[in-house]
Amino acid sequence: MTAKAPYSADHLIILDRDGVINRDSDAYVKSLAEFIPYPGAIAATARLTQAGYTVAIATNQSGIARGYFDADTLKQMHAHLSALVENAGGKLSSIAYCPHGPDDGCDCRKPLPGLIYQLQRSLGLPTLTGSWMVGDSLRDLQAGEAAGCRPALVRTGKGKSTEARRQYADDTPVFDDLAAFADWLLG
Ligand SMILES: [Mg+2]
Ligand SMILES: [Zn+2]
Repeated sequence: MTAKAPYSADHLIILDRDGVINRDSDAYVKSLAEFIPYPGAIAATARLTQAGYTVAIATNQSGIARGYFDADTLKQMHAHLSALVENAGGKLSSIAYCPHGPDDGCDCRKPLPGLIYQLQRSLGLPTLTGSWMVGDSLRDLQAGEAAGCRPALVRTGKGKSTEARRQYADDTPVFDDLAAFADWLLG
């Protein structure tokens, strides 16, 4: 008998942050005060983890490169978010973020899949096959597909305008919000 991997790739759900878990802002989410989670998304994350799924986040945070906030402020937001999820009876297993700007030439800014590979490494997953990437922007879906995850679109945040442009694959499932995705997945 070989040891089991600590996580099953079939049970990994990667979430975008802004517009999926919390209210997005065109002026960036720059402080803990501006970080306003959707209550339904916190509850959905808890339900997914209680059902045995591993939930992680992959988020572009170019506001760091732009000087709008710093990594310590981001850590505060993420500690707060993790605590909210834990208080709801769930768990966020990992949060990967890209601090770079669009012209920095990094490999982690979505639509590139670098953040997803960071999560794969930190969670010790041999494969991402069967994993989900849930986002509100086309670049989330593209990053997920590039890494071999199944993409799902939510209509919160920028999701309605993403849906209106229809630049994603026809078979991409679309949900009103993360709670609706969880309802569907948990059947
Ligand atoms: Mg987003
Ligand atoms: Zn990056």
